[in-house]
Parts: sequence; structure tokens; C-alpha cells
Amino acid sequence: AALYKIDGWGAPYFSVNSSGNMTIRPYGVGTLPHQEIDLLKVVKKVSDPKSTGGLGLQLPLLIRLPDVLKNRLESLQSAFDFAVQTQGYEARYQGVFPVKCNQDRFVVEDIVRFGSPFRFGLEAGSKPELLLAMSCLCKGNPESLLICNGFKDAEYISLALLARKLALNTVIVLEQEEELDLVIDISKKLNVRPVVGVRAKLRTKHSGHFGSTSGENGKFGLTTVQILRVVRKLGQAGMLDCFQLLHFHIGSQIPTTALLTDCVSEAAQIYCELVRLGANMQVIDIGGGLGIDYDGSKSGDSDVSVAYSLEEYATAVVQAIRYVCDRKNIKHPVLCSESGRAIVSHHSILIFEAVSASAPSALEMNSVGLQYFIEGLTEECRSDYENLKSAALSGEFQTCLFHADQLKQRCIEQFKDGSLNMEQLAAVDGLCELVAKEIGAATDPVRTYHMNLSVFTSIPDFWGIGQLFPIVPIHRLDERPGVRGILSDLTCDSDGKIDKFIGGDSSLPLHEMEGGVGGGKYYLGMFLGGAYEEALGGVHNLFGGPSVVRVSQSDGPHSFAVTRAMPGPSCGDVLRVMQHEPELMFETLKHRAEEYCGDGDTDALASSLARSFHNMPYLVVPASCSLTAINNGG
Ligand code: PLP
Repeated sequence: AALYKIDGWGAPYFSVNSSGNMTIRPYGVGTLPHQEIDLLKVVKKVSDPKSTGGLGLQLPLLIRLPDVLKNRLESLQSAFDFAVQTQGYEARYQGVFPVKCNQDRFVVEDIVRFGSPFRFGLEAGSKPELLLAMSCLCKGNPESLLICNGFKDAEYISLALLARKLALNTVIVLEQEEELDLVIDISKKLNVRPVVGVRAKLRTKHSGHFGSTSGENGKFGLTTVQILRVVRKLGQAGMLDCFQLLHFHIGSQIPTTALLTDCVSEAAQIYCELVRLGANMQVIDIGGGLGIDYDGSKSGDSDVSVAYSLEEYATAVVQAIRYVCDRKNIKHPVLCSESGRAIVSHHSILIFEAVSASAPSALEMNSVGLQYFIEGLTEECRSDYENLKSAALSGEFQTCLFHADQLKQRCIEQFKDGSLNMEQLAAVDGLCELVAKEIGAATDPVRTYHMNLSVFTSIPDFWGIGQLFPIVPIHRLDERPGVRGILSDLTCDSDGKIDKFIGGDSSLPLHEMEGGVGGGKYYLGMFLGGAYEEALGGVHNLFGGPSVVRVSQSDGPHSFAVTRAMPGPSCGDVLRVMQHEPELMFETLKHRAEEYCGDGDTDALASSLARSFHNMPYLVVPASCSLTAINNGG
């Protein structure tokens, strides 16, 4: 566990049990030992058709944990409740979940249901997000906020006003000044009194990757001049009482409470000014930014680390707003945050398996034979070989390496020339690797583990912005990993690999693939990826999303129950995404089979074709897997 820093990023939800398997503690610190869920058992149950009640789902697999989601929501709420109480803050915290972080129906429905006792609401940033937020909140607490952010046209604004007619507690947050005219016009036409907020462009700048659009020249929100014009215009329209909320968002992953205090204080000053100018202010919405400590370092010195806990975050926010409001003698506003990453990141785990690992090529050496190899060499190469041998005998290790490299380069030239054959070239590779290994220069060679996964589909932020997530074998953690490796995916794309890991490492400690309690299989989990990844993932090489299961803690014979299981998109499904019509494709291929194959074969071919359309695009990995040749170039 220490090797993978699990205690750092995983607490209080993830740890390792006495069998060496990753476990989930679904209720965080309140989890009792018998309630812990063994992740390998979940994977076996879900993927193995032969296990009792096994579902036979294909990997990769996304495991959703609604209990963890509930615990995250409750922890956030109680962190703010505690800060409100201990600091004598005279209003409540009432958060919203920005659905952009994970629009999955069951995730959003869970959040509305679990958050209903404390009026937890939703935030939308586009028309479809608003539609889903509206319908989900119909089953929620009527006081929950529905915050409408993002760029808006007349249709978006009409929809938000309709939501108010449906008695949903909707706030239209102006992202651009022009939206105000539409809000005034349409609300009059529809005869609805809107509740309006503005997104302020703060001067405080978040300098990390996610804050690149913050600050005075940032992309989003209204400037001081524009906010003043909004006040004036609403006043002229007799609608200043509609102006009730101030919002800002300086970017995700705010690294420190110092920066947080800075931006919250600036916003609180604007809030107090708006009260002075006659707006009917009720709510300060501090946006997202509550971060995740992906590398467990709590250092706050990079985009993957934050230097605070939930409690410290809540305390800093409450303290800053109370301080500013008290000095100006302004009633404390209701506190809202749009924390997305912090709510959903822990709730899902992506499981994938290794299909093969590159093996050291020294084996080739034995099968070919040294003599045959030497005979094919030119004079120059042979003298390199003799030099290598004498350096090895006299223990001059650096010289050894030098001659090995020279021999290899010359042999490659000879191969290109056509005077060395493939077996001989393989033999020189084997010899050089053996030399490196023997003299200790490569005692820790980095292997390539081929994973049944698409990085582009399932970990798009790694590919797109270099975001690091903890990746750990979910079993054999009681065995010291013998090698280090990088992870390469199934796509024919050189970017389809993971070669950077938390802690700044360029390889991951891994176990040899053979053996182990996984029945020959080797499973890895990517953790803390519950936010953003699912919607951002594409279908590069036509690999679709993973199978998805919902797993809850259960006090039955097992500590868990699978309450929902969905196979991932089939080959037919992903083809449809690109406008192909799998049914027509099948018919075309079937007719071709009738034309070219014997009558006896046609039925078998047709059902084999049908199966190919129906199955997922990923590899079907046999129990004891050792595929060796997977082309990953390109
Ligand atoms: N609110 C707005 C307006 C956002 O743009 C975002 C995402 O960047 C969020 C909330 C969610 O932020 P986070 O995931 O950091 O909580």
C-alpha cells in the first residue's frame, strides 16, 4: 500500500486487506470491518460467468459506489455545517452539484435523493443539462437551488423561466451582459418573475492549469463595470428585487486555502456592494474549485494536489465571508458551492486488465545460438563483439555498455543492408539486453504492459491535459512487485499509453503477469476518476465506454450487492455513433457470404458476424492470458 501511496490519496475509502486486495470502505471512517468490500471479489462476480451469480460482463469495467457518493455529499454538508456552527455564521450552506462533472442519470438521481434532506441542488451549463436537472429536481427538495450557468440564448432563458413556473427554485446566472435583455423581455412575455444572479469576473487569479481563464482578462463572467450596468438596468425595469445571487468560479482544483480566502473575500466585497446598491441579495455562490488530492501529498504545489481537507476548505470560506459581511454590517448570505470534482471523484473505479507484458528479449539469444550469430557479422561488428567480451572479462562495465551499443548500431546497419537476417538481429538485441542486465545498468528495465483499455475513451484527461490519477493493481498487494512498467492501451496510437504516474514517476511498480490469486489475470484500477472523464471520453479506434455496475454495501452473505449491471457499448453501438448502420452492414456481409461461401457455411458465418456486431470492441481475454504480439505502434 505504501508503494502506491494508497493511504495518502485513498483515505478514508480505499485500503488493502489481509489478502492483499484493494478494499472499499463505503461509509468512509464510519465503515465497520465486516462492511468493507473486496474489489477483486466484485470484479470476479461481475466478470466471471462461472462464479455464483456471475454476470459475465466484459472488461473494462466501471464500478459505481452510491454509498461513497452519499458519504461525500454528507461529508461536504457536515464540514460546512460545522464551520457555520463554530463560527457563529448566521445563514446556512446549501450546495449544488454541477452536472457537467458527471451527467450519468443514476449519479444525478442519487445526488438529488441523498441531498434532499439538506436541500442539495443542481447546476446546469447547457440546455440538455438544464432539461435533466429540471426533471431530476422534480423528485427533490423544492427549496433546492437550480443554478443556470453558461452561455445562454432565448431558448435557454425561456426554459429556465419555465422551470420557475414549475416551482423549481431556479436562478438565471448572467454569464454575459447581453443575456439580461433577453431575461427582462422573455420574463415579461411569459409573466414570470425571474431570480437573477451574475457571474463576477474576479481580479484574483488562480495560476494552475484550471485557472487559466481566471483573473481580470479571464474568459468568463461580468466585469465591475458590467455588473454596475446590470444593477442600473434591472432598477430601470423595476426588477432590482430579482437580483439575488452573486456567483464566481476561478477554476477547478484551487490549491490552497490562502488563494481560496483571497477570491472568496473579493467576492464577498462585491456582494456587500450589491446590497448597498439596492439588490435583493440572498446567496453567494462560490462556484467549484474544491480540489482532490490525487497524489496524496497534500502539498498543493501542482494541479494534482491540494493542501487542505474538506473541513479546512469550509472553514476558510465561512470565515472569509463572515469577516467581510460583519465589517460592512451586512446580513450573512446563504452559502452555495458548485463542488463537482469533490463530490463524484471517489464514487467510481475503472477496472482494466493486462493482456500481455513485453518480455526481455534475451530469451531469443538461447534459441538462436551465439555461434550462428557471430558467423554472420562483418569484420567491424566482430571486433565490437571481441571488445565487448574483453571488457566484460576485465570488469570494465562502462566500456562494456559502450561496445554493446556500438555492436547493436552496426548490426542494425548490417540488417538494413540486407547482410544480417532477422534471427541474427534478434540475437544482438538479446545479447545487448543481457549485458545491460548483467552489469546492473538495467536491473530495473521498464516493461510495457498492454492493457485491455482505451486511454482516449476512459482516461481522456490524461491524454488531453496530462491529468494524473492513482493507478494500482487491485490484488497481489501482499507481494512485492518485481518489475516496473508503463501501460499501453489497445489503440493504434502512440498517445495511447500511460507513462506518468502520481508522485512524478515515469513507470509503475507491477507484478509479473503469471500466477497470483487473480487466476492468471492481472487487474488494475484507476481511482478518483468519477468526475469529467465519462463525458469527455471519445470513441478513438471505435473503442466505446466500459461496462458499468452499481455496487452497494450489503449485510447479506457478501459485503456487497450488485444492484445494476450494464454491458458497455457493442461494436454495433459504436459504429452507429459514426453514422454506420450495423443492420445494413450485417445484411451486406451476409449476402456476400451467401455469394462466396458454400450453403453449409452461410448460417455459421452469419451468426459469427452477428456476434461480432453484438460484442464489445475490447479483447476477450482468456483466464490464463499471455498474448505476446499486440501492435501498438502508429
Ligand atoms: N461551476 C462552474 C461554473 C464550472 O465551470 C465548474 C468546472 O470547472 C464547476 C462549477 C465545477 O468545478 P469543480 O469540479 O472544481 O468543483
